[in-house]
Order: sequence, then C-alpha cells, then structure tokens
Amino acid sequence: MKKETKKEQLSWKEAFLLNQRAIKIWWNLYPQVFLSDAAYQITSIFISYFTIWFSARIIEELTSSKDSRRLFSLILTLLTINFILGILNTICKRWHTVVNDMAYEKLDYYYNEKMLSMDFISMDHTHTHDLFSQIKQNANWSDWGLNKLLPLFGDMIKAIFGIFAAIALSWQLFVLPIPKQANQLLWMNHPLFHLLLLLLLFGAVLLSPAISNQAGKYWSKYAESARFGNRVFGFFGCMGYEQKRALDIRIYEQNSMCRNGMIKNNTFSTHSPIAQAARGNMGILFGTADAVNRIFTGCIYLFVCLKAWAGSFGIGTVTQYISAVTMLYENIASILLFLGQMRTNAPFLQTTFEFLDIPNTMYQGSLTIEKRNDYHYEIEFCHVSFQYPGTKEYALKDVNIKFQIGEKLAIVGENGSGKTTFIKLLCRLYDPTEGEIRLNGIDIRKYNYLEYISIFSIVFQDFKLLAFPLGQNVAVGINYQKKSIEDCLKKVGFDKRLHSMKDGVDTYLYKEFNKNGVEISGGEAQKIAIARALNKNTAFLILDEPTAALDAVAEYEIYTKFNEIVGECTAIYISHRLSSCRFCDKIIVFERGSICQQGSHKKLLTDPKGKYYTLWHTQAQYYETKKTPKSE
Ligand code: ADP
Repeated sequence: MKKETKKEQLSWKEAFLLNQRAIKIWWNLYPQVFLSDAAYQITSIFISYFTIWFSARIIEELTSSKDSRRLFSLILTLLTINFILGILNTICKRWHTVVNDMAYEKLDYYYNEKMLSMDFISMDHTHTHDLFSQIKQNANWSDWGLNKLLPLFGDMIKAIFGIFAAIALSWQLFVLPIPKQANQLLWMNHPLFHLLLLLLLFGAVLLSPAISNQAGKYWSKYAESARFGNRVFGFFGCMGYEQKRALDIRIYEQNSMCRNGMIKNNTFSTHSPIAQAARGNMGILFGTADAVNRIFTGCIYLFVCLKAWAGSFGIGTVTQYISAVTMLYENIASILLFLGQMRTNAPFLQTTFEFLDIPNTMYQGSLTIEKRNDYHYEIEFCHVSFQYPGTKEYALKDVNIKFQIGEKLAIVGENGSGKTTFIKLLCRLYDPTEGEIRLNGIDIRKYNYLEYISIFSIVFQDFKLLAFPLGQNVAVGINYQKKSIEDCLKKVGFDKRLHSMKDGVDTYLYKEFNKNGVEISGGEAQKIAIARALNKNTAFLILDEPTAALDAVAEYEIYTKFNEIVGECTAIYISHRLSSCRFCDKIIVFERGSICQQGSHKKLLTDPKGKYYTLWHTQAQYYETKKTPKSE
C-alpha cells in the first residue's frame, strides 16, 4: 500500500515522460497500430462532419424554398460522400482491429524476450516474478500499463480532429449578430455576454473532466486489491477447466471450497471496497461530472435556440450548431480526460519500466568456442563456492572437479546437498561467488555465453514438450530428418510406441492443436525429452533425474543401454536412485554443498564409513523388497 501512495504523487512531468517512453516502445514495436487507429478515427470524424453539415443544409432547404433539385443534389452528395467515407472507414476499422490484436501479441513477445534475455539470476528472483505478475494483472484488470496507450491514442486523435471539425462547423454561431429587429435580445451581441459564454464553455469543459479524473483516482487507489481479486479469480475461477486438477476437484469435491475462496476475496463483489466507493464518493463524483455535462448542454440549447428565434440563422443551422458545440465540448473534455488517464496510468507504467529496466549484470565474454566433432572440451571446477543472492549460507563450498572427456558421471546426494546448484553453475545460469570454472583451461566467463551454452544438452526434471508433432519436438524445429529422429527415439526405447503411431514421427502430441494427437504418459514424455537432448548432439549431456517418471522396466532398459544411448559425449547424471548410477564411470557424492566422496560404485562401497555406503544401504532395503532389476 505504501508503494501505491508514493505512486499517486507522480508529477505531470513524470507522467508525461513515462507516457512518452511508452509511446516510443509501441512505435518501435508496431507503428501500424498508431497509423491504422489514426486512419480509422480521422475517417470517422469526416463522416460526422459531412453528415452534420449536409443534414443542416437539407433541413434548411426543407424549411425555406423547398427546391426539389437542390434537395435532391444535397441528399445525393451526402449519400455519395458517406458511401465513399463509409467504405474507407470500414477498411480502416478492419485494419485497426487486426493490427490491434497483433499488437498485444507483439507486446507478449516483447515481455517474453525481456524475460529470456535476462540474467538467470534476475529471472529467478521473486521480485522479478512479482513485477511481471503485477504487469499482467494490471493489464487484465483494466488495460493499465502499456496496453492503455492504444485506446488512449485513439481517443486523443479523435478528440483533436473532432475539435477542428467542431470549430469549422460552429464558429459562425458566435460571430453572427442578433438582427436589430429582435430588440429584447440585442444584449446577446454585447462583448461581455460573449466573454461570459466563453467562461461558461471553458468552466464546464474543465470542471466535468476534472471531477471525472478525481473519481477515476479511486481505480488506482484500489489497484492493489483489484490485482489481488484478479489473482484470486484467475486461480479459483479457472481451476475447474484445468485438466491436471480435474481429478482432485472431482474426487475431493474441491469446487465448493474454491467457490468460497472466490466469494471471500472477490474484489468485484457488492461488498468490495470498489463497489463501496461506487456507492459513495466515487459514484457521487461521476454523477456530478455527468450533471455538469447536462447543464452545459442545456445552456447551449438555450443559446442556439434564442439566436435562431431572434433570426440570426435558420432552423437547419440550429441542428448544425447544437451538434457542433456538443462535439466541441465533448472533444475538449475528452482531451482533458485523456490527460487525466495518462497521469493515472503513469504508476502502472512505472511498474512496467521497473521490469523492463532490470539490468543484465553478468559479464558477457567474447571468446568463441572452437567447433569440435571429437568433443574435446575439458571442464574443471577450481575452488568453486556459491551463495544464492540474499543468503548467507554456501550452497556450494570449495568444489574441485575435472570432467574427463567422454566420462559418464553420476552426481548423488541428499536433497539440498547442492546437486542442482552445481549444474546451474556448470551451465552458467549463475557465476561462482568464489573460484572459477574453466573450459579448456579458460574461465568460462570469457566465452560468448550462447556459444558456451551450445555445448550442453539438458533434460530437466520438469521439462516441457509442445503440442506439436513428435518429430518437431525432438528436432526442436519445423524441419527434421525423419531417420535421425527415429534413431534417437529408438535409442531411448521409444521405438515400440512409435510403431503404434499411425503417422510415425509426424504424429501430433496431445490434442490441443490436432484432434488425432496422442496423449502420452509421463514416462513416454521423459523418453522423448531424452531423445530431444540426444538429437542436439552436444559434447555434454546432462540428465537431471531423467528416470523419475519411468517405470522399473523402462528404467532398466535405459540404464543397461546407458553407454550406448549417450555415446561419446560426457554425460552427467543426477539421481536420487543410487541403483541407477552404478553404470557410471564415476560417482560424485555431495554433502552440504561439498564433494565428500568420488569414485566408482564398487570403490565407494568399500568404505563403510562413507556417505555413499550409508545412502546405498538405506536404499537397498527398498530394492530388495521391490525386487526391481538386480542391484549389484
Ligand atoms: P539438490 O539439488 O541437491 O536438492 P540444491 O542445489 O537445489 O540441492 O540446493 C542446495 C542449497 O541451496 C539448499 O540449501 C537450497 O535450499 C539452496 N537453494 C537452492 N535454490 C535456491 C535459491 N534459488 N535461492 C536460495 N537458496 C537456494
């Protein structure tokens, strides 16, 4: 809440600069979104202008000479202009609708790119996720933030051109004098009266939007709670549609619990602060702004009618002036509202820019990595220690290890012992706090990051496959060589399942985009993920608990063929199941962030005081009772 109070104090200058930056972002992202909207708004204004002008002339004609030829020509001209402008306007509207939808997509890409190009350390930070979720929720709630700029721009263009059109249609109202014969109304020719009229116009024009803007401030006041309400709604309201929750929801009848959660926290219910404000001050302010509008419109009617009654102009022109002055008033008010909205939107933009301005501080090296088919890349951890930002404990402490080329390594240890952190540092998602990691003798920070990362393939525990064809998933691309994809799938034991698929590697996974798509089990998905890593054909293959979702037989299949599967590359294998690791050349045992033991399975088991011995025998009981493939 503190933050919101600070945000409300943004000055006009700050608000202007923030909005200016937002416009620049949109312009660089997609200029068409402005061009199409401007074209649409301008053609709309032209239609209004001609309709008002010609309608006045037609009524004029009907109430005076009733010349049928002139009437016919006026109607025909109006219809022709409206026809041409109408077509243009429809084209522009269509253009704008399409472009507008695309614009929001581009904005999503823009955020995605920012997220992906960010240092992992920043991306992993909860503040970054909090900022991003605020941006999304502000946009969902009422289009606040960058989204707001698009409708605001349209309103602004409409208002500016509307003012020009209205002045062109109404200026004579103020300069045409009351004829001498209308004695009682001659005071309306007095300059003081005109001054009073102008004051009334500007007073009303300023007052109404000022009151509306004051009322609008309640929206930013309740931004925090509305965001929370949206979050609650997004969570509880959509739970029922989620496939992965469907079973739990039905079996435990969680729906009534969810409904309660939603009702209790609903920011948009009749008891919410926003609803209370709408019934109280906010409602009164909006009502007053509307009343000021009505009073002003009434005054304009009176003024125009009196002048017409006095004989300054005919009946037809009455409609023209009333429409034009109303148009003038509405558009000036719209500009003021626009300015108010721009200011209200500024704090939301500030949140957006806080996210976009998160700097990349990791050192970006420029050394290139020599492409080698013999996988001769040697990695060494030299006295590496690491603390996660904001923590005092070391997640890794003085780790020293050198990977032999082509070696099959397993990393084991209890939860929290530092296995994942070790891999994160190896892939340079974080840099060591102390010590260095070297590739072929050179600190990895000196290499171009993208080139460095390209020598690794990783199968994460929570990997994700896409609802695209199987081949595209393995190849991570639209084009693929069927043969090599099939080979990789065969290596991981997916060949049987592949043969049962009617379209082979062209079969769609899941049904989101294709009704003939196949649903696959967790274990099958994991095999595909391993095949995807193999297909990348890199010097290092990292498997993070790759068999967690596999059944005992599938796991056995993978391990007995482990060396064949991973081929010549250096394979690093993280696992909790020690039985899976005994095929590896070397096992590294982590304990409280340090390597406490390393060696082959057989060698490690010879030390009854060692951590590995304890871990192995604790798990062995499980294998014995389960009778999975033989342990030693
Ligand atoms: P393992 O993979 O062996 O289960 P981790 O490498 O994930 O262990 O964790 C090592 C230590 O680092 C643990 O104490 C864990 O709590 C801590 N840790 C892991 N990730 C983070 C993080 N993002 N921020 C702070 N501490 C973390």
